[in-house]
Amino acid sequence: APAAGRVRMEDLPLRADLRGRTPYGAPQLDVPVRLNTNENPYPPPPELVADVARAVEKAARTLHRYPDRDALALRGDLAAYLSGATGVPLTAANLWAANGSNEILQQILQAFGGPGRTALGFEPSYSMHPIIAAGTRTEWVPAPRRADFSLDVARAAELLVEHRPDVTFVTSPNNPTGQSLPLEDLRRLVESAPGLVVVDEAYAEFSSQPSAVALLDELGHKLIVSRTMSKAFAFAGGRLGYLAAAPAVVDALQLVRLPYHLSALTQAAARAALRHAERTLASVHRLSAERDRVAEALSGTGFSVVPSDANFVLVGRFADADAAWRAYLDRGVLVRDVGIPGHLRVTVGTPEENEAFLAASKEVAAEHL
Ligand code: PMP
Repeated sequence: APAAGRVRMEDLPLRADLRGRTPYGAPQLDVPVRLNTNENPYPPPPELVADVARAVEKAARTLHRYPDRDALALRGDLAAYLSGATGVPLTAANLWAANGSNEILQQILQAFGGPGRTALGFEPSYSMHPIIAAGTRTEWVPAPRRADFSLDVARAAELLVEHRPDVTFVTSPNNPTGQSLPLEDLRRLVESAPGLVVVDEAYAEFSSQPSAVALLDELGHKLIVSRTMSKAFAFAGGRLGYLAAAPAVVDALQLVRLPYHLSALTQAAARAALRHAERTLASVHRLSAERDRVAEALSGTGFSVVPSDANFVLVGRFADADAAWRAYLDRGVLVRDVGIPGHLRVTVGTPEENEAFLAASKEVAAEHL
């Protein structure tokens, strides 16, 4: 047998359906302006940092014990936040939390997808949806968007009737294109879908459209709304995603969640961060205004910009997106090549970061448009 260091992945008894796949991975490069993962560019304010540190210190005193497996206090806090944000009454029974909304989505497919089942999404959309489907051995059914990346809802509803997916993903606002769907469109999709619909609202706080949470009372037997503290909440490093759904959905997820999946430190830190929600979310308005400013400046420089309701914009039309991505990197600006020919996605940063991006864009435009 070869030494451990010489063993290659091909030598391992890896599942056949995982062979040859590449893991999800945005490059984590140490460059001055990082606009590639849709984070909030503003670091947490000192009083939030102090509150998190205090809460974590307190939790550290009982680290010899397992954490609250049901994360009830945190779910109560999330319910209070989401009720306040949407005007929809919710309790801890409607909320479930996990290590990022990626884990939420994985638990959903573990429970409602799996071998012999299908999940459908409207592409281009969040690339982890098909990856999580693959990991849970759920067959992935890609469905199209229009050429301008908007969703033809009438056609989408027909496809749901035709394909009968067990789980449908609707991302609103959509990553990486930025468009969001009004409530009537979401209702129509959920009503047409024979199975469950997951509305992935990772960027909901940036959107001008109401949350799908408003449909839960009516459609809770087939609707799950997935959210995260990674974007507007400036808590990407804390890893906290959550969902709102009928209590029965939350009960079903208990069958697949790992016991004690949310550490005591995570629960304590997330609760502390939620206490500062108002201050943190004040950045949302600034970022939305900056998004519109960046979009307008780009249009003026000859780029085509997809209208965005999120904290990023999809920009084109580059002759060669990969070469343009490198040209930005050469100028100290990291953006995202999401694999859409001729396009790159850029996260809205601080005004200074956006200026650096726009300055680089003028140069990149000269060579790469
Ligand atoms: N959904 C969408 C649409 C996203 O863009 C992201 C992050 N890129 C996520 C879910 C997952 O984020 P997290 O696990 O940090 O909550």
